[in-house]
Amino acid sequence: MPVREVRLLGDPVLRRTAQPVAEVSDETRALIADMFDTMYAEDGVGLAAPQVGVGQRVIVVDPREEGVQPFALVNPVILERSVELERAEEGCLSIPGLKEIVERPAGVTVRGFDEHGAEVTLSGTGLIARVLQHEVDHLDGILFIDRVSPLKRKLLIDRWKKLTR
Ligand code: ZN
Repeated sequence: MPVREVRLLGDPVLRRTAQPVAEVSDETRALIADMFDTMYAEDGVGLAAPQVGVGQRVIVVDPREEGVQPFALVNPVILERSVELERAEEGCLSIPGLKEIVERPAGVTVRGFDEHGAEVTLSGTGLIARVLQHEVDHLDGILFIDRVSPLKRKLLIDRWKKLTR
C-alpha cells in the first residue's frame, strides 16, 4: 500500500470541508490502508483524508496506547463532548515542527462507520479524545492552530513561515 504525500499548511485542501462518503467501498478501504501506512511512516497518532489530498470524511487513529486497537472511522460525527476541558500539547503532520497547548473537551463520544460499513459508536478520554477531535476538525477545514488564542496563532504562523522559508 503506498504511502501518500502529506499536504502541508497552505494547501487549500486542508481548508475545505470534506464530503461524506456515500458508501464504504473497496476504494474507501484502499484509502484507509494508505492512510494508516502514511500515518505510521510519519510517526503520527491520527490522520484525516484531506491531509493526503482526499476531500472525504475519513479518519484513522492509533493513539499507541496499550489495549487500544488502531481504527478508521468514515463519516465520524461527535455526538457528545464532556463539559470538563483538558489542556495538552498538540502537533499536526500537516504543520511539522509546530506544537502548542490546545484546550479541548476531555472526553467525546463519536459515531461513524468502520471500514466494513458497520456503524460504530465509541467514547474516549485523554489522548484518544484529543486525536478524535483534532481529526474531525480536519474534515471541517479546521487546524489546531485555529484552536489557540489569536496571539499564539500569529506566533505559530510566524514560526511556520520561518521553518518553510
Ligand atoms: Zn492534524
